[in-house]
Amino acid sequence: MLIIGSHVGFNKDSQVLGSLDEALKYGANTFMFYTGAPQNTRRCEINEDLVLECIDKCKNNNIDYSKVIVHAPYIINLASPDTDKWEFAVNFLKGEVDRCSKLKIKNMVLHPGSHTGGGIDLGIDNIIKGLKIIVEYNSDVRILLETMAGKGTEVGRDLSEIKRIIDGVNSDQIGVCLDTCHLNDSGVSIDKFDEYLDLFDKEIGINKIYCVHVNDSKNEVNSHKDRHENIGFGTIGFDNLINVIYNKRLEDIPKILETPYVDKEFAPYKYEIEMIRNKVFDDELLNKIKQS
Ligand code: FE
Ligand code: FE
Ligand code: ZN
Repeated sequence: MLIIGSHVGFNKDSQVLGSLDEALKYGANTFMFYTGAPQNTRRCEINEDLVLECIDKCKNNNIDYSKVIVHAPYIINLASPDTDKWEFAVNFLKGEVDRCSKLKIKNMVLHPGSHTGGGIDLGIDNIIKGLKIIVEYNSDVRILLETMAGKGTEVGRDLSEIKRIIDGVNSDQIGVCLDTCHLNDSGVSIDKFDEYLDLFDKEIGINKIYCVHVNDSKNEVNSHKDRHENIGFGTIGFDNLINVIYNKRLEDIPKILETPYVDKEFAPYKYEIEMIRNKVFDDELLNKIKQS
């Protein structure tokens, strides 16, 4: 069965129950959320009654709550060569996995980090050191390393960097989240996605993939830019994304849209999910969303 949803909001009043309600509005059967604003580290107490209510509502709507995803904020940087920043990232992540435990969320996506001039080897060592602390601190939560576009000094721009981190931490609590826009921008042609999966399986193992971010890209392959585009309206294209979404080898893995709002105002997810279920590209979709 296709498991598809999008990034949704999270606020301190309705919390994960509000996130679920937003996902249901989009016709989704999974979702991903940040436990607060993605660009800051202010976080609220988790209300465990709302979590139980949400899990109940998921059951009633045939949603497998164990596949719902949390995304860590992208400003924390485990690859930082600055000791203060690294320690801040480790401490913040401890709080974040604790929040995931209270939320009964199993999988948390993490951007590996940026070495900011410290060099790739030091960056990877710092990530490994930090993740070892996190997986020992909390065994409930799996950390999914996201494949990155290779913008600036981002770590995780290719399979070998992801593999070095996974081998270095050496724990079942580490997995991977593929992001189609990031893969494209890092140099992987999504029209040869099956070849990429073969290679991934050989180097890391497909069983390590627990989430796929499905985004089109505004930029050409190998651009190292990381700017997401609506499904079918970018350089990857609808058919190639459909091949990823319906790939037999990733059948039970949640697919999450992180495509941009149309005119920064209109959420596209209901329409994109519908188009994906129909498997037919609608080149008028963005206009329809604006008029909705
Ligand atoms: Fe991400
Ligand atoms: Fe992503
Ligand atoms: Zn991105």
